[in-house]
Amino acid sequence: MSRNRVIRCAACAGRIKPQHPHIGVEDLETGVEFSYHARPGCQIRAAEETATRLEAGKVYAMHHYHASTCPDAAPGFGCAGGCFDTPMAVAN
Ligand SMILES: [Zn+2]
Ligand SMILES: [Zn+2]
Repeated sequence: MSRNRVIRCAACAGRIKPQHPHIGVEDLETGVEFSYHARPGCQIRAAEETATRLEAGKVYAMHHYHASTCPDAAPGFGCAGGCFDTPMAVAN
């Protein structure tokens, strides 16, 4: 696993630092993964765009990449690192 390519956010086209928290939406057919910042605006875009693609019959897996400094051994939403501390962004 030596992927040193630059990761760009599919929502805002900004660069994502691999050690920062971000979301990956993987197309299980093609293996292509869309990346998004963990910040609320980009998370909302990720949820909306994924919903649209799901309606088109695609199958996706969501990956939540926590910051390299995240102290949780098994991190999830509301982790001790505060990587994805805005669950309201995906509500409704
Ligand atoms: Zn972004
Ligand atoms: Zn975390």
